[in-house]
Amino acid sequence: MNNIPMVDLKSQYQKIKEEVNTAFAEVLESSYFVGGPVVKRFSDNLAAYLGINHVIPCANGTDALQIALMALDLKPGDEVITTPFTFIATAEVIALLGLKPVFVDVDPCTFSLNHYQLERAITDRTRCIIPVHLFGQCCNMEAIMAIANKHDLYVIEDNAQAIGSDYTFSDGKQQKAGTMGHIGTTSFFPSKNLGCFGDGGALFTGDDALAEKIRMIANHGMKVRYYHDIVGVNSRLDALQAAVLDVKLKYLDEYGAARQKAAAFYSSHFNQVSGVTPPKIATYSTHVFHQYTLVIEEGRDRIKDGLQAAGIATGVYYPVPLHLQKAYQSYGYKEGDFPVAEDLSKKVLSLPIHTELTEVIQEHIISTLTNSK
Ligand SMILES: *Cc1c(COP(=O)(O)O)cnc(C)c1O
Repeated sequence: MNNIPMVDLKSQYQKIKEEVNTAFAEVLESSYFVGGPVVKRFSDNLAAYLGINHVIPCANGTDALQIALMALDLKPGDEVITTPFTFIATAEVIALLGLKPVFVDVDPCTFSLNHYQLERAITDRTRCIIPVHLFGQCCNMEAIMAIANKHDLYVIEDNAQAIGSDYTFSDGKQQKAGTMGHIGTTSFFPSKNLGCFGDGGALFTGDDALAEKIRMIANHGMKVRYYHDIVGVNSRLDALQAAVLDVKLKYLDEYGAARQKAAAFYSSHFNQVSGVTPPKIATYSTHVFHQYTLVIEEGRDRIKDGLQAAGIATGVYYPVPLHLQKAYQSYGYKEGDFPVAEDLSKKVLSLPIHTELTEVIQEHIISTLTNSK
């Protein structure tokens, strides 16, 4: 069998080639390359899909997080609570803005911020919580929002990995991932569930005032051209990216279903394998499987090497929890502070998952993994 990559963007493109090429041609003919009608159309369509008033596009998911924090008028030294088990971008923007990242350990089943430990991390300097909807399913947003409301804190949902996922509140009401906090952010990096052909990102909010501020910050702090009311950044989505995203948005639910089907197939096999725990799906959220991540009790690295030797790509997300990263040592964390995140970093292994995976490929991955145990 050929080498098996983590994602197969080439086959996915082949299926929508005509539509994407037509959309690209439209942009090229219009020569409206930055901003303009295609970016507006995509933003409006995404807002309708998410059921939220405002979608503000930007250059990437890291910028989206940075702009979200900038919109909240925080002061240097203010504390922002997040998870140590995420991509670095989540904590990076906190540090970059002179704010203090405060970590809270994760839940061993969902790998997301453990809301039972959230309240004890809150101090009189805490201003914001950034839950990360890791690997494709929502955090327990009902619990997190209740704590945030009680302590008058902002919530920014880092939704780079769970776009399209549905959250169900205890009263039965459903909302899309990224639309429950004050601001939601996402990334359109090619390998994300809604990916473009380069870099891209967006912010979501239901708050008109925040939306206006976010738009200004993303555009050099100006509302009227060349009048800069606040310090901003330059962060834009270009029209070619918006064009492909607008095509792919139509298929997002289909793509999610394909990932769910592949995940169910994996899990039906890995449920029988001792020492291997398939991902658990929370009762309150659907899972759109940005990653399919196993917890392997023993020999994770040996198994990873075995798969690699057979030409099967795997990923370790994430090998070092953020509180133990060199660049973040000054915050004073040490080994043992967040035992669940630390344990997971030694045991997780993500397998290829994407919209084009076939059962034949999956069976090959499953048997190779089982044999390298
Ligand atoms: C990918 C990712 C980001 C950053 O997105 P970029 O577009 O790469 O800047 C932020 N947070 C999480 C959880 C991510 O997975």
